[in-house]
Amino acid sequence: MHLRPLGTEDGVYAPAVMQVTGWRRVLHLLLLLAALGSGRAMGLRISWCLSVPSDDDYCLSWRVAVETNNIRGWRTVPGQCLRHVEGYMLGGQYRRDVGTVVDQIYQYARGVPFSGDGKDAWIMDVDDTCLSNLRYYQGKRFGGDPFDPVGFKAWAQMGICPALPAVLQVFNDLVAAGFKVFLLTGRDEETMGAPTTENLHNQGFLNYERLIMRGPAYKGKSAIVFKSDVRKQLVNQGYRIWGNVGDQWSDLLGDCVGDRTFKIPNPMYFVP
Ligand SMILES: [Mg+2]
Repeated sequence: MHLRPLGTEDGVYAPAVMQVTGWRRVLHLLLLLAALGSGRAMGLRISWCLSVPSDDDYCLSWRVAVETNNIRGWRTVPGQCLRHVEGYMLGGQYRRDVGTVVDQIYQYARGVPFSGDGKDAWIMDVDDTCLSNLRYYQGKRFGGDPFDPVGFKAWAQMGICPALPAVLQVFNDLVAAGFKVFLLTGRDEETMGAPTTENLHNQGFLNYERLIMRGPAYKGKSAIVFKSDVRKQLVNQGYRIWGNVGDQWSDLLGDCVGDRTFKIPNPMYFVP
């Protein structure tokens, strides 16, 4: 029987299921029944397992695809994955994954040829990198609800986001080592400047070089455009961006992204 190679039909990638139609499907079924019948006749015990992926299998694949930037532009966590994401965020795996990223930051930072001229820089994002919005997103079904700009702004203006402990630790160690750490956030400077600064200070983010927020010139522009422009300006000022840490790919793509980028996991929302 001739089977078309997978992925060749009309240029569309075929899923891992044989694309047989009509009489071919019937023939397959007959062959399968014949094989089973002859197996029984020979006294063989035939068993097979239909491999039907569970929601959790599906959601693990979904989450990996999100973290690797293979799924983009998604607006909400798929309905069948709400419990999976909740379990991931609260059950310890998220904390362990952040810890693994931070371990890699330490490992890399130890090998950076530090010059000591005051131009060795790091970039760190704020939301869900330095400060956690997990408590807010608990009320939004861990990303099951679409982004609510008014609700999020009200939350951010309260200035009560806790630090991600592992990120706070590495932030302090980078500052102590002499790196200039720039905090770069898409939060609106005009309306969220004061509470963001206060929140960062209250949580122990002190002695950073500069907190750079979105000004009026970048209103409505994507994070990639805004953050790329800021990083270009820093490079033009002579800074060497050694590391760049963020929970969104839009923190880590574009221009002058740095010598190494580090992705903090975030399966709750996507920022373009
Ligand atoms: Mg962020």
